[in-house]
Amino acid sequence: MPTRSPALVLLDLLNGYRVTQALYVAARLGIADRLATGPKTSGELARASGAHAGALRRLLRALVSFGVFAEDAGDRFALTELGALLRDNVPGSLRAGVIFYGDPRHWKAWSKLEESVSSGETVWGPRAAHAFFEMNAKDPEGAAIFNAAMTAFTSAVDAAVVAAYDFSRFATLVDVGGGQGALISSILRANPDLRGVLFDIPPVVEGARARVAGAGLTDRLQLVAGDVFTSVPPGGDAYLLKWVIHDWDDDQSLTILRNCHRAMPADGRLLLAERVVPERIDQTADTQSIVLADLNMLVLTGGHERTATEYGVLLDRAGFTLTRIVPTPTPLSMIEAKRA
Ligand code: SAH
Repeated sequence: MPTRSPALVLLDLLNGYRVTQALYVAARLGIADRLATGPKTSGELARASGAHAGALRRLLRALVSFGVFAEDAGDRFALTELGALLRDNVPGSLRAGVIFYGDPRHWKAWSKLEESVSSGETVWGPRAAHAFFEMNAKDPEGAAIFNAAMTAFTSAVDAAVVAAYDFSRFATLVDVGGGQGALISSILRANPDLRGVLFDIPPVVEGARARVAGAGLTDRLQLVAGDVFTSVPPGGDAYLLKWVIHDWDDDQSLTILRNCHRAMPADGRLLLAERVVPERIDQTADTQSIVLADLNMLVLTGGHERTATEYGVLLDRAGFTLTRIVPTPTPLSMIEAKRA
């Protein structure tokens, strides 16, 4: 096959937001769930979802070109392996993540990337992650979209985290900023002797309650609401923070890490599950997802994705020693530290 010219390669790259929006509309219209029972024509799908038949067919054919749906000669569309991930409420579903990316809140924020690159501040201004989470607090629909997306993204990687790191040597694991509890629930299911504490802001903990009860973990998982900038619950011998430190600048991160330090026993372990930025950027899909997540932190929260060296320095300043970084087969790594 002839190589694609640089111009065509660059034009391909430009398509990113169109693909995002196409996936978003398919997710919103529930197309994947409507195909769960078998292939359907674009007319049937349009009637069921209230869309314009001709326009929906164009959307579906666009997504066929990316392998999200398959089309047969009879204008019938079917799920593929990728399309199946757009179903709702199935294990591994990424529908909530797609809706978060395509939602006008997120998409409008990214339309101001140029402002962030000029100012070095988030699109909400200098108050950074506080502004993002305060805005969420005033916008229950936006918060629900965010929390559901975190749960979906975490569910896509939690098996890899559980397999890569041995949690069985701990008695009590505190998941700080643990969201709706997807990760700690998976870890507890895989480690039957482990107890857990899920710590997050009050509305998120409330939202986690029903899920935890549904997972049959109420006797081993305690839910605690609070503010990580004030204190974190004592009593754990390991403190896990997944996608928390990356939301914050170095000063804010130090406050959080020092609060964990204060809550921990002398031989406790701190575990940061984060995307570690390679010291030198390569062109793998994992690296691309890490550096784009870093831009997302610039735009939305004022945090950073950090390199191993940067994590080492930050941990050192908070009174920890980085002991090792355990990779997983996903862009997520487990950064392990002990009290210095
Ligand atoms: N660990 C989860 C969620 C990551 S998103 C996961 O990986 O899926 C960051 C989390 O930090 C959110 O759940 C958010 O509600 C929580 N958070 C933000 N500010 C907080 C605060 N001041 N105190 C406690 N948790 C906070």
